[in-house]
Amino acid sequence: MKRILVTGGAGFIGSHLCERLLNEGNEVICLDNFFTGSKQKVLKLLNNPFFEMVRHDVTMPYYIEVDEIYNLACPASPVHYQHNPIKTIKTSVMGAINVLGIAKRTRAKILQASTSEVYGDPHIHPQEESYWGNVNPIGDRSCYDEGKRCAESLFVNYNHQNNVKVKIIRIFNTYGTRMELNDGRVVSNFIVQALKGENITIYGDGRQTRSFQYVDDLIEGMVRMMGTGDDFIGPVNLGNPDEFSMLELATRVIELTGSRSEVTYLPLPKDDPARRKPDISLAKEKLGGWMPKIKLEDGLKKTIEYFDKVLSGKGEAG
Ligand code: NAD
Ligand code: UDP
Repeated sequence: MKRILVTGGAGFIGSHLCERLLNEGNEVICLDNFFTGSKQKVLKLLNNPFFEMVRHDVTMPYYIEVDEIYNLACPASPVHYQHNPIKTIKTSVMGAINVLGIAKRTRAKILQASTSEVYGDPHIHPQEESYWGNVNPIGDRSCYDEGKRCAESLFVNYNHQNNVKVKIIRIFNTYGTRMELNDGRVVSNFIVQALKGENITIYGDGRQTRSFQYVDDLIEGMVRMMGTGDDFIGPVNLGNPDEFSMLELATRVIELTGSRSEVTYLPLPKDDPARRKPDISLAKEKLGGWMPKIKLEDGLKKTIEYFDKVLSGKGEAG
């Protein structure tokens, strides 16, 4: 049995990861300050004696003895990470220093949840790991993008300088059950709007693209990445290469929900990337043939069912 720390474990992705790690017979410590996460997401895990919930902020040092660390603590939705940009930077940078400190002291393996945002508004398409990106260092998204870029640098340098066993994954847009109603990201926004019969808010002309990965595919990739040998540190892209425009996404959501919602156009946020699609060759090669299995339509159906239950009061958020 391994003892595993998951920071940001009470968030959307973190709660799925905690559940998976517990199901595999590990002891899991979930650390979260509940900024965008909630106890509700891990409610059904709280009875498990091998699960511990710790209310703590990663910007403050934390001491524990563990075998592995997954560092997910950081708001991920543009609305939330831009709410308090300085705190977002501190969470990424001071959080990374604190968890890397734990890994250095305990010799734990540590995985950083980085992001496709390190590529910014990319000039290379699809994005492969060797691309350095096109990030505005003083723009509205920079608190997140540059925070995550600095965290990658910290991870690589703790590896080079102190032999810490690090892993870096770059997650592309991921969606699924346990997202918050007010998360603010596009998939949850569109589904919640469609289910409520409200207008679907498309920012800009809707021709910008994203590639959407269902959360179960990501979790599989994360666990496989943690299991790779110490010589492979990444970064490795984890995402679904199927690319859709926001207009296509809106159409699918309207079809699948049978909603009468109409599309409304709002201004495009500053520095909103025009295109995004992962090259996943490296993940396939290094992670035992890993590739996303869940098609957008199937993932949307599961997510719609989830939000339908939450909105009708029949479902728990977990
Ligand atoms: P989320 O907002 O649901 O989860 C983030 C969790 O971190 C929340 O539970 C939040 O309360 C916690 N947190 C935030 N600041 C903290 C702090 N200072 N101390 C302790 N806990 C803190 O978002 P998510 O989608 O689950 O994202 C999880 C991780 O994956 C993030 O690091 C994010 O950057 C990364 N990521 C996600 C996506 C995606 O599409 N979902 C894409 C790229 C990267
Ligand atoms: N978007 C949109 N309507 C919404 C929310 C987002 O059209 O209600 C767009 C947003 O401008 C971006 C894309 O959807 O082009 C993905 O946004 P999201 O916030 O999900 O993630 P991002 O990839 O931008 O970090």
